Amino acid sequence: MSSIVSSPIVLDGIAIAGQIKSELAAEVEAARERGYVPGLAVILVGEVPASQIYVRSKVKTCGELGIYSEMHTPPASVTTEELLALVASLNARENIDGILIQLPLPAHVDTSRLLEAVMPEKDVDGFHPVNAGRLLSGSPMEEILAPCTPAGIMEILRRSKIQIRGKRAVVIGRSNIVGKPAAAMLINASATVTVCHSQTADLGAITREADIVVAAIGKAGFVSAEMVKPGATIIDVGMNPISTEAELQKFFPGNATRRAAFEKRGSTLMGDVDPAAFAISGAYTPVPGGVGALTIAMLMANTVKAARLRRA
Ligand code: NAP
Repeated sequence: MSSIVSSPIVLDGIAIAGQIKSELAAEVEAARERGYVPGLAVILVGEVPASQIYVRSKVKTCGELGIYSEMHTPPASVTTEELLALVASLNARENIDGILIQLPLPAHVDTSRLLEAVMPEKDVDGFHPVNAGRLLSGSPMEEILAPCTPAGIMEILRRSKIQIRGKRAVVIGRSNIVGKPAAAMLINASATVTVCHSQTADLGAITREADIVVAAIGKAGFVSAEMVKPGATIIDVGMNPISTEAELQKFFPGNATRRAAFEKRGSTLMGDVDPAAFAISGAYTPVPGGVGALTIAMLMANTVKAARLRRA
């Protein structure tokens, strides 16, 4: 008797982000009719090219959705005190619902002090300890501002109708911006969750038990096919440029599209998961075009939510 092996489902982050953004545009329009426009203030310190690109696309997306936005661009020499004063002025502004401090900040700036100075109601990155605590204590997602990347993961799972309740989820990575909040969200959604990190012994034995694997490590192709249970859902958060011929050959043998991208730019972006693991999965998020596509949409969602919650 032959067993039927079905191809994995590709969880299309770009399409899901598109759905979320069109829902948000309608919500912004409804807010405008009720007499307010959600507003986001972005603080970008110095001239880090990658940060400038991120911030520009955040501001552009605000414009597309009808969200008011403004940018504050102090020089790299700005002091913590000056930034605290800027945050205090934005906290006090009625037309600003969200405050985003683009990271990383210059080394001389006290990042945690600054993140904690943003009032929790305007903390659209969800990094404030009050918001982290609300997430951990199981407050409903509709009522809290939670970190954007893990919130995007939950949207992908939910909108793709991947069952979470009662399933075994393994999160690889324990950062405050991805791994830990992703684990908290999965627990809140009634998965049985294990969090792994660089000191985890026999990682593969743990990941092989997972129905849902979330890889947030920062190492190209780290999760191999041997580490994954066939049919599992794989959420690949990693964003790693690979720039050597050996890596291209190892992960994308015979892949003409990847080779073309590699030859054009000198690198190609891949996640933390080896494509051979995707091939045996039940569903997976590609890189690019998976989780990364959701992050800005979730920032917009948090801005609209912050505006609504502040007026509730
Ligand atoms: P991070 O702060 O560097 O955390 C990486 C985590 O991976 C750490 O907890 C680390 O363990 C763990 N780790 C490292 N080596 C490991 C190993 N050999 N075995 C098991 N665990 C290991 O990174 P992050 O900020 O969470 O980001 C993770 C990845 O996601 C990066 O590629 C980043 O670019 C990407 N990212 C993507 C988005 C998006 O929008 N798609 C957003 C944020 C981040 P220890 O704690 O023990 O060191």
